[in-house]
Amino acid sequence: MQERRQLSETEKKEILDKYGKRCFIDGHPIESEEDIEFDHIIPVAAGGSTTLNNLAPVCKKHNRQKKTMALSEYRDYLALASLFQDGKLKYLDDVIVAKGHHPVKLLPYEVNTNGRSVTLYFDTAKADVSVYECPITDWQYFYALIPVQYIKNDKDLQPRALRQQAMWGLYRHFQRNTQLSPSICRFDNEGRLLLFDGQHKAAAQIWAGRKAVECKVYIQPIAKQLKETNLEAHQSYRQMSFYSYELMKKYADICGEDWEQYATLEGRKSEKGYVDFLINEKKMTYAKAKGEVVRAIHWRILNDSTNRLGDFISEKSRARRQPLTYSRIEKTFFRHMLSPIPNTVEFQSDEDLRDIEEKNLVQLMSIIADEGLVDRWNPERDDSVHQRTERIFSAGAIRAWVRILRDVLNAYLQLYLKGPEEAQRVLYRELSNEQFDWIRKFVRQIFSHPVWDAPDTSDQDISRAFTKDDDTTALSLLKDRRLEVEWVLQSASKA
Ligand SMILES: [Zn+2]
Repeated sequence: MQERRQLSETEKKEILDKYGKRCFIDGHPIESEEDIEFDHIIPVAAGGSTTLNNLAPVCKKHNRQKKTMALSEYRDYLALASLFQDGKLKYLDDVIVAKGHHPVKLLPYEVNTNGRSVTLYFDTAKADVSVYECPITDWQYFYALIPVQYIKNDKDLQPRALRQQAMWGLYRHFQRNTQLSPSICRFDNEGRLLLFDGQHKAAAQIWAGRKAVECKVYIQPIAKQLKETNLEAHQSYRQMSFYSYELMKKYADICGEDWEQYATLEGRKSEKGYVDFLINEKKMTYAKAKGEVVRAIHWRILNDSTNRLGDFISEKSRARRQPLTYSRIEKTFFRHMLSPIPNTVEFQSDEDLRDIEEKNLVQLMSIIADEGLVDRWNPERDDSVHQRTERIFSAGAIRAWVRILRDVLNAYLQLYLKGPEEAQRVLYRELSNEQFDWIRKFVRQIFSHPVWDAPDTSDQDISRAFTKDDDTTALSLLKDRRLEVEWVLQSASKA
């Protein structure tokens, strides 16, 4: 919440006279004087004033829970959660009733004889608005602010239910931004006004307290054609509404509300698009914005329940001393096996292979665990098998062999034939089971190399050099001992 001046006792009394000793969030009485706090109702950033009119009492507990939200936002947030609580599908009509409006069945209207205007007969007033005609279809329509009680959801043309997160994202968006395009409605044969496009937008605005919705209304009974047009218009964007739900889950854990807001905006979306959004709308630096996307991708790979390497990362499994840390994974698998982040590919288009890349890396990391660590890593026993494993996973060694493995995959998949950028994204493609069998063989070869064996004499012991967190030194040591791309490829084909 924004800084605000200290309230005097008189000012506090003035606010309490207005609201009583009740918490603004849900109206419960505040028992103890000490629990009474004051905060802004409408966020100042969203145009709320800094005067007493925009302050209300709130109990200590709710004031802490609402974090940076203003009082009205947190109240609406909790109310929205309770609307969706019963798990039943919710539509615009439910939102209208939940906000205390009394739906009116019909909106009588009259097209004036010259066809240039329409008269709308609201209960308390009538309105004349201009009529326009589409030059292609001759359909007539008008624009108007329609009071909420006259609007119904068009279940025929727009059967999809509301999504809570999308609605909340738009609510937050419209707290600080104007609505660019109106919702689209039609009159049906009985004269009911049905809203068929922009349901989330309208629901979000109504939830924020709007009493009227900006609408473009078609006046002829042309449901069938509208339905076709609507379906067509949604071919690209029907996919979007669906994917925004999928994507919503994808980044929500790491990026929270920023992501929700981005995912509910219209238009094509990409990693780069999200980075730009964070820079432009959230005033982040490029590094910080990129870091959000990077973190989300890393998080998904590390927290994939099928990633068996997770059992050997100290932050994830503290039961004993572990060979790996997050920072080691970042310097190795994430650095060399993931394609550059952020990319510009449209999310969930045919070109978007990020999910596949993540899945491939999870599988590769599991192979590393199977072939290198399971039943081998055992610091309690500290036998020769464990000591060999320690050498393989020492700081410099792993940095070096992950690079070798990356180059082996490059050669095996012949990516150099496809272009220079392919070498930077070895796993950004569909890989068959057979190809993964080969990858397993390569890993096995690397781990079976004699360089990891116990030294015969102390002057032959290179394991101390491997513990240096430096891949250049380690790479040249491995090269000296002939652990390099050619050897891995050849020995795997003989194995
Ligand atoms: Zn309270």
